[in-house]
Amino acid sequence: MILKWLIFGAIVYAVYVLFFKSKNISSKSSNKSSKKDDGDSEEMVECCECGTFVATKEAFIKNGKFYCSKECMNK
Ligand SMILES: [Zn+2]
Repeated sequence: MILKWLIFGAIVYAVYVLFFKSKNISSKSSNKSSKKDDGDSEEMVECCECGTFVATKEAFIKNGKFYCSKECMNK
């Protein structure tokens, strides 16, 4: 009887490890890709006028320089 429980436990453990590992790998890879995407989308640049860091998406670009706002850009 004890042997049965040991085998049963081993099978449960093996299934659990396999499931957990595969889940971990998939979640890790998805996390990495999402983190990379976030890093690309949230790349920060420094405003040439006031030194404020702004996301490249939100930054204003004039003459190849980044500005945090139109006010800084037009100074
Ligand atoms: Zn600025």
